Amino acid sequence: MKYASEFRDGALARGIAATIAAECRSGAQYTFMEFCGGHTHTIARYGLEELLPGNVRLVHGPGCPVCVLPVGRVDSAIELARDHDVILCSYGDMMRVPGSHRMSLIKARAEGADIRMVWSTLDALKIARQNPGRQVAFLAIGFETTTPPTAMALKMAKAEKLDNFSIFCNHVLTPAAMRAILDGESLALQGIIGPGHVSAVIGIEPYQEFADRGQAIVVAGFEPLDLLQAILMLVRQVNEGVPRVENAYVRALPAIGNAKAREVIAETMTLRGDFEWRGLGTLPNSALRIADDYEAFDAEKRFALPYRQVPDPKSCACAEVVRGLKRPEECVLFGKVCTPDNPIGSCMVSSEGGCAAHWLYGRHR
Ligand code: SF4
Repeated sequence: MKYASEFRDGALARGIAATIAAECRSGAQYTFMEFCGGHTHTIARYGLEELLPGNVRLVHGPGCPVCVLPVGRVDSAIELARDHDVILCSYGDMMRVPGSHRMSLIKARAEGADIRMVWSTLDALKIARQNPGRQVAFLAIGFETTTPPTAMALKMAKAEKLDNFSIFCNHVLTPAAMRAILDGESLALQGIIGPGHVSAVIGIEPYQEFADRGQAIVVAGFEPLDLLQAILMLVRQVNEGVPRVENAYVRALPAIGNAKAREVIAETMTLRGDFEWRGLGTLPNSALRIADDYEAFDAEKRFALPYRQVPDPKSCACAEVVRGLKRPEECVLFGKVCTPDNPIGSCMVSSEGGCAAHWLYGRHR
């Protein structure tokens, strides 16, 4: 597979790992957070930690959109589908995430709610056009990567005057999550592996504030060599003592990101005052709501959706897992009560979740 398989070459991977080992200083500690859940899965799938010297430690971060959505927002989505006779459209990742009382979108669907899995916002718009007598809402989640398609759906719905379409907007912002991690418990991080897909939208400049706070930052792609290269660049920054923002994903990521995508987001959405995250608590200016000019398409306003804070399931350590404070296997429920077939927390459900990665690729054994 062009642009993928050549970045999975085992001999090259071992070569980069040997360079990392040679350049790491004995007695120094190199602790790096991989912000993105996609990176966590690559690290687990290819066993990259096992290639690294003992003083290089990788910790999982909050960059999994499904994982950081709090229980209260899952409950609101279920309520939207069950109590308002709405056709609720959702990406597949959200379908099995447990809300209160282990209810999920897929269970609500089994009980009769009209919940449909879609691949894109265009599918949701199509369902709205095909069902003019029904209200259709799209459950929008994710970081800056998935925000532009939501923004485009808002523009299209407005242009078409689709009065039976709305969006339940839960989009969140990467720099706010990084800030919360650095402001929170001390993980003694030396650097962050930045998210490749998010950065394709926002560019690399928003990470400068973290370099100014002493963090080495390297934005990486999603193949094993991408990550090893990023780790080598981070090690070199730490050794030089000059933290800065670097781009190791130049084949896909222009350093300026995508101005057009940011424009359409800025037109259709605006900052929320407060937003609750799973694991990070309630953070100001950390998420987006639908802009006033588009409020006719705001499902929270159209259906007067209430929001209630709900605690995570008892003993579930998702809050610590998304902050890098615990490895998934340190959760007492991991693999015993909580498995992908019987998820207790969101981190075991999502294809970007840390617990799912460790379970799927056996990193806990
Ligand atoms: Fe939550 Fe399950 Fe992960 Fe434990 S193993 S932190 S219960 S998702």
